[in-house]
Amino acid sequence: MAKTNRKKGECIYCGRTGPLSIDHVVPLSRWKEFGVRRRVLDNDSNRVLACLKCNGRKGMMSPREWFELHPDYKKRFMAQARYLSDEIRRIVGIG
Ligand SMILES: [Zn+2]
Repeated sequence: MAKTNRKKGECIYCGRTGPLSIDHVVPLSRWKEFGVRRRVLDNDSNRVLACLKCNGRKGMMSPREWFELHPDYKKRFMAQARYLSDEIRRIVGIG
């Protein structure tokens, strides 16, 4: 599980404190599209705590698609995104 935002106990996107679930920043199902091995996504560095509402709405969206809809969520995410792997950061567009 993600180390950083777990401590804060809030959704990494909207900041709600619950109920929380584990979200894959880059959806597992889209590994081929982003030119990475599946295990790069099936990894702690791609997992964050997100509230059920955000997780459900984000669904299979890529981080870019999600943050286009919610630029304010990107700010909160960025502030806590230091533990993300270089690959994930590249896909998110913050590499
Ligand atoms: Zn949320």
